[in-house]
Amino acid sequence: MTTAAAQRLDGRSAVITGGGRGIGVAVAEALVAEGAKVVVSARSVDEIESVAERLRAAGGEAFAVPCDVSDPEQVRALAAAAIERLGVVDILVNNAGIARSAPLKSLTLEEWNLIMAINATGTFLCTQAFLGPMVERRWGRVINVASIAGKIGAAYISAYSASKHAVIGFTRSVAAEVATSGVTVNAICPGYVDTPMTEGSVANIVEKTGHDVELVMKNLRAMSPQRRLMEPEEVAYLVLSLCDERAKGVTGQSLVLDGGGVQS
Ligand code: NDP
Repeated sequence: MTTAAAQRLDGRSAVITGGGRGIGVAVAEALVAEGAKVVVSARSVDEIESVAERLRAAGGEAFAVPCDVSDPEQVRALAAAAIERLGVVDILVNNAGIARSAPLKSLTLEEWNLIMAINATGTFLCTQAFLGPMVERRWGRVINVASIAGKIGAAYISAYSASKHAVIGFTRSVAAEVATSGVTVNAICPGYVDTPMTEGSVANIVEKTGHDVELVMKNLRAMSPQRRLMEPEEVAYLVLSLCDERAKGVTGQSLVLDGGGVQS
C-alpha cells in the first residue's frame, strides 16, 4: 500500500547504472517504491530488461537502457535515451563497477586500465552527461557508489582501491563546484555487501587459497565489527536518504556503511 508520506520521490526520475543485479537492483526497487520513475542500465540487456519488467509488474515506471559506462558514446546515448523516456533526470546513481584482485607484481596494465575505466572514468562520464540539466533546474542528486576501499587500502586490491579513491576525490570536487546549485554530490562507501560481486570475490579467494567457502565467508564477515555482510537494501536506504529534501545540506561526503569498521 502506498501513502502520501511514503511517496517521497513522486515526480522524480532517476538513472541507476549497474542496475542489472546486486546493489543497483535494490536501489532501483527503493526509488520506485518511493514513487520515482527509473532507468536501469548495465551491459547485460537480459538482466536490465528483467529488472525493469519486475519493477513495472509491481506498479512502477521503469525502463531498461543498455550502456557500458566506460564508453563515452554509449554514455551520451544513455543520457539521450533517459531524457526521452523520463523527461528529466533528477537523480543519478553511479553504481556500475567491477572488482578484481591481484598482487601488484601480477597486475597487468590491461586490468588496471579496465578497472579505472569502469569505476572511475565511468563515474566521471555519467556525471558529466547528467549534471548540466540538474544544475539548470536547480535540483539534483548524484550518488556515487564507492567502497571502503576508497577510504583505506588493503592487500591485493591496489587497482580497485585506487579507482574508488578516485571516485571519492571526484565526488568532493564536483560537490564543491556545484555547491550553490541545489545539486548535491555524495559517495556511499560500503564494506562487503551480499551481492553477485562478493560471490565472485569469494570464489576467487577459494580458488587462490584452497580454503573452503565457509572459512572465506567467515573471514569476510569478520572484517566488519558487526560480523556480517551488509545487505543491498541498506545501501539503497542510504541512497534514498540522500535523495530526501532534508538531505540538501549533505554534499561532498563519503558515507561509510560497514558495521563500524572504517570510522572516517
Ligand atoms: P555486481 O557485480 O553484483 O553488479 C554490478 C553491476 O554493474 C551489474 O549490473 C553490472 O552489469 C554493472 N556493470 C559492470 N560493469 C559495467 C560497465 N562497464 N558499464 C555498465 N554497467 C556495468 O556488483 P555490486 O552490486 O556488488 O556492486 C555495485 C557497486 O558497489 C560497484 O561499484 C561496487 O564496486 C560497489 N561496491 C560493492 C561492494 C560489495 O561488497 N559487493 C562493496 C563496496 C562497493 P554488466 O556486467 O551487465 O554490465
